[in-house]
Amino acid sequence: GIRTAVSPFRSTLRELQQRYRDLQDGRVADYIPELATADPAWFGIAVAGAADGQLFEAGNCEQEFTIQSISKPFVFGLALEDHGREAVAARVGVEPTGDAFNSIIKLDEGSHRPHNPMVNAGAIATAALIKGDTHVERLNRLLDMFGRYIGRRPKVDVAVFASERQTGHRNRSIAHLLLNFGMLPPNVEEVLDLYFQQCSILVTTRDLAMMAATLANGGVNPVTGVRALQAEYVQDLLSIMYTCGMYDYAGQWAYDVGLPAKSGVSGGVMTVVPGRMGMAVFSPPLDSHGNSVRGVAVCRELSQRFGLHCFGSA
Ligand code: GLU
Repeated sequence: GIRTAVSPFRSTLRELQQRYRDLQDGRVADYIPELATADPAWFGIAVAGAADGQLFEAGNCEQEFTIQSISKPFVFGLALEDHGREAVAARVGVEPTGDAFNSIIKLDEGSHRPHNPMVNAGAIATAALIKGDTHVERLNRLLDMFGRYIGRRPKVDVAVFASERQTGHRNRSIAHLLLNFGMLPPNVEEVLDLYFQQCSILVTTRDLAMMAATLANGGVNPVTGVRALQAEYVQDLLSIMYTCGMYDYAGQWAYDVGLPAKSGVSGGVMTVVPGRMGMAVFSPPLDSHGNSVRGVAVCRELSQRFGLHCFGSA
């Protein structure tokens, strides 16, 4: 485990941070105008042990950024707790799409059920499943849930939320198309607000590592001892992260890195090593798939060096 190799592990993170900060490829997302203000030089790597939450960090691990799509598996987890597998499966599937994360095209075919909770259509359908009598109650339940994973209740970045809400025409079309097919309740604007708010939650690289460590620890935050997710649903989250977590790179990622993960357009990548640790990288410049360039490079190297591929023999 990582405990027995504490100092080599810490120096590896520092070495990777120093080496990959020279990697200048990729572009900061700007389709949400507020995201374009990110500094392309921000670069943090954090690892948290699943057993005790022990942290190893290098670089800008306390820089806040919005969680974006990394929120999606966690909200899916709360929907499962609220309704159970069968009812959730009626609204959103678990099949990879091979299309872009914000694609609308396949919704017009077949059952009109979004393919999986990691694409925007599926994430919006998932947000609609969160229980609560009022919008405020639903948002509070989401923030409480993220708080259990992080160990501290997070805040929503109001500027990013406003920016997404104002420019999210494609997400709005997806939601209205789902409403047209009876796959969303009539309060579409509230559902969209909840989705934009979940994407605008502020986290740090350290927080993402702790969230991943919580999943690696069977759903219990290893520092606080608080259960964030019912044990039976941990496998649901890890399965969809493995098959759908890295946009259209999910297959290559599964092949090369071999770990459940989720990335987001603000530049975060969160990776779970079940039973062992949570890893997180933050670096805003993205590749053509929408994944953090440095994030993919660091996770690939960590997986190889420490033999973390889930089907590896190392
Ligand atoms: N809020 C973003 C959107 O809906 C999330 C995208 C992402 O991180 O993949 O476009």
